[in-house]
Amino acid sequence: MSRVWNFSAGPAALPQAVLERAQHEMLDWNGSDASVMEQSHRGKRFIAMAAQAEADLRELMGIPADYAVLFLQGGATQHFAQIPMNLAGEHDSADYIVSGHWSAKAVSEARPYLRVNVAASGEAGDYLKLPPRDSWQLDPHAAYVHYTPNETIHGVEFHGIPDVGEVPLVADMSSNILSEPLDVSRFGLIYAGAQKNIGPSGLVVMIVRRDLLQRPGRPMARIFRYADHAAADSMLNTPNTWGWYLAGLTFQWLLALGGLGVMAERNRAKAESLYRAIDGSGGYYRNPIEPAARSRMNVPFTLHDSALDAVFLQESEAAGLLALKGHKAVGGMRASLYNAVPMEAVQALTGFMRDFAQRHG
Ligand SMILES: *Cc1c(COP(=O)(O)O)cnc(C)c1O
Repeated sequence: MSRVWNFSAGPAALPQAVLERAQHEMLDWNGSDASVMEQSHRGKRFIAMAAQAEADLRELMGIPADYAVLFLQGGATQHFAQIPMNLAGEHDSADYIVSGHWSAKAVSEARPYLRVNVAASGEAGDYLKLPPRDSWQLDPHAAYVHYTPNETIHGVEFHGIPDVGEVPLVADMSSNILSEPLDVSRFGLIYAGAQKNIGPSGLVVMIVRRDLLQRPGRPMARIFRYADHAAADSMLNTPNTWGWYLAGLTFQWLLALGGLGVMAERNRAKAESLYRAIDGSGGYYRNPIEPAARSRMNVPFTLHDSALDAVFLQESEAAGLLALKGHKAVGGMRASLYNAVPMEAVQALTGFMRDFAQRHG
């Protein structure tokens, strides 16, 4: 089998073992003579699968019993709007930490629903480092504090959970969920679009402290209300059955590999290896992020001469290294190193980078 390595930022590579299992089960899932996509979400097979996926995620992340786990739709972006609707009243405000593209987007989508206090922002420094915790202007009466632990486009990541006191901490973990062990009890709400580190797009996994579901929020249709989704076991309407199933396969894959401690070690080693290749290139490649804030998941880098970008992309693709083009907001290249990207992929990339620098030096 010819191998290519996929460094896509999202929708991103899925574990090969998960894809093969889905392929194997495609025409006859679980003895049903039909695919998982072709049967009722109210049927006993699907209900059992859905419950197992939740149980496996709870085991992987050590999710306490006083947290609900929801399998929702709409992408992370829809929840930028739905979170303020659910957690805040008309006269409330919330604190937002802006550390890159996605947290800025979360602010703009929240503004119609509440007063946004941008408590700290890295924008003036082009998001090359994180606003230090002691500079945050937090409001003790805020409905919640929202932040983005890993900025997928800018490649900055919080290492460690910020202390925000008693105000519930809300985290968009779309691009770093399941990449390392996490103390869920430090959060009020965690949410993640699935297409980076969980499964296909069209699914959002949310972990929310149950007392927050009691908040009245804004007047809204039931379909937007998290408490109603929780009461209906995320089957208020037809869920993304395919996404839920693939997420469940990914959770099983992670458990079989030994869980999030093992993934954390692998992810650390992968990122270290790539940053070492960049920093050791004598300026041929460059990552501009302050080292303490560098992301383990998304590594943007530039070439010393941007005139070589097109050649780099063409040659890397020919070498079986896919989707390295950087986001247009940042330019250059970006390698995303989610759980499904193995160390061999990073070795292939760093080998190619060294060779390219020699040939085009
Ligand atoms: C990809 C991404 C989003 C957007 O997700 P959609 O599912 O397209 O809405 C939001 N936040 C972060 C951190 C992301 O990486």
